[in-house]
Amino acid sequence: MAVEEDTLLLIRRLALRNAVEHDGKAMVDKVTAKLIAVRPDLRGNIKVLIPTIRAVVDEVNRLSRDEQRSSLEAIEPRVGDAGAAVEAMAEHRYHNLPQLPDAVMGRVVTRFPPEPNGYPHIGHAKAMIIDEEYARMYKGRFILRFDDTNPAKEKREYYDAIMDGLRWLNVKPDLIKNTSDDMELLYSYAERLIEVDGAYVCTCKPDTIKRNRASGIECVCRSLSREEHMERWHKMFNEYRANQAILRFKGDMRSSNTVMRDPTLFRIIEHEHPLKGYRYRVWPTYDFAASIEDSIDGVTHALRSKEYELRNELYYAILDRLGLRKPIVLEFSRLEFEGMPVSKRKIAPLIEKGLVKGWDDPRLPTLAALRRRGIQPEAIREFVLSLGFTKADTKPPFEVLEAINRRIIDASAPRLFMVRLDDCARVKVHGLADDMPLDGSAVVIRNHPTNKALGSRVIKVRDEFYLPLSDIIDAVGREIRLIDLYNVVIERVEPSEGGYASAHATFTGYEVKDVKKVQWVSVDDAVQIRVLVPRHLYVDDAYNPKSLEVVDAYAESYASRMDVGSIMQFVRFGFCRADADGIFIMSHK
Ligand SMILES: [Zn+2]
Repeated sequence: MAVEEDTLLLIRRLALRNAVEHDGKAMVDKVTAKLIAVRPDLRGNIKVLIPTIRAVVDEVNRLSRDEQRSSLEAIEPRVGDAGAAVEAMAEHRYHNLPQLPDAVMGRVVTRFPPEPNGYPHIGHAKAMIIDEEYARMYKGRFILRFDDTNPAKEKREYYDAIMDGLRWLNVKPDLIKNTSDDMELLYSYAERLIEVDGAYVCTCKPDTIKRNRASGIECVCRSLSREEHMERWHKMFNEYRANQAILRFKGDMRSSNTVMRDPTLFRIIEHEHPLKGYRYRVWPTYDFAASIEDSIDGVTHALRSKEYELRNELYYAILDRLGLRKPIVLEFSRLEFEGMPVSKRKIAPLIEKGLVKGWDDPRLPTLAALRRRGIQPEAIREFVLSLGFTKADTKPPFEVLEAINRRIIDASAPRLFMVRLDDCARVKVHGLADDMPLDGSAVVIRNHPTNKALGSRVIKVRDEFYLPLSDIIDAVGREIRLIDLYNVVIERVEPSEGGYASAHATFTGYEVKDVKKVQWVSVDDAVQIRVLVPRHLYVDDAYNPKSLEVVDAYAESYASRMDVGSIMQFVRFGFCRADADGIFIMSHK
């Protein structure tokens, strides 16, 4: 059978890549598996192709490693051709990440440029994950750049929080840098811009500037000579005070895009910088720093959220005037959850008033909060990739992330019993079998119905239990089964006295029967715990005073022996994460 030319080329490319990745030795079975992954349509014909694959692999394995590498580079696809697109998707399952325009395999550089002015949240997770995934998809580079040029808003604490979030999400930059390390370079570009008549120093009052911008009027500064502006620029470093002078881009004061109406490029901020102290007082704005940094860092694809869309014209105009290479700017939508605002403006006042207890309060969408709540980093990555690179605004319900997380933690979370204090009956069991000593026998219960690796636990039981009142209140006179223990008939339930009801039951045997199954906590093994249940922080755009439910409960002592950070499922309650001694946070149902 004649093998089609494009199939042959694909086999050769896969064989070369397999060889390059495995010490120069390609393997027939690996190449075959990859071929089927990339071209599922060939599965039915694969037997016919095996001799060809074998021949190509033999040929490739006879090459020196340098020859393999250079042959691979020669035929490694320019991404954009359809075959390569299919290949990349099959290899990485990036079903929702479309190909980047003009992306060349091995040459893509992306960056995540957070300003260290707050705690990273789910929106940052989206940006950092998508930037990293694209770099990996094209075997390129991914840069983390702290855009730290507004010292009044930035803190050391926030750099650390962003790094923590990144590490937790297992996002690995190839390079980490700070814009503030490039200040001298940024100054030199500012001067070049003044020299080419692309920027000027304006000493008008802030009010005047604002008014002129609104009405599209040029100020007198604009028409001064370049020499004069250079002089004013130097004065910004030692003479002018904050708000007395700014460097403005010479745009178009009548542009319909108001961003282009001579925006600020540098301003004086006399404030200690978290990394640089008082070394600088003239700081670039985001618009200036981001375009220059992206260009000089070799960024090929600058992804940013949609609210910057109007700033793209300025981004390109700055680079144009300076004759610098222009990255491709792409926008994606912001990501936040329904009822969980990400904006600092909304969250900070709640923290100040004590309504929310810090940036890791489990009701918040910060990475620290999601982590504390028991959301797994893999779940966040999967969630972000499942939404993909959409430009439409996404405000998915939190339940979507919960569903992914549940699937990830389900098999490794021990199932434990707990009984809420507000739904609790203390039950005495009478007529226990003779082989069940009343002085406390031990029962062994498996920690997970299917995952045997989670082992089992030993529970001390006598004849008294806490049971959910709602489970037995309607069962008087009927037989129920205490899960994994034995059966009893509920004889009577007495009205509550001082908190919970008391009840009496009679032992009826061990045999597993088709009766109602009820979880239990042995009085001899009970510990009192507290579970925090986070709910929507915002309802109808207002703070929800019921956003944090506190549930006090009896749980088996095993729960209190689990390490902080462990995940468990309290039966019929939900998945929880051990947060501190005796304190648990509910992840989700
Ligand atoms: Zn002016």
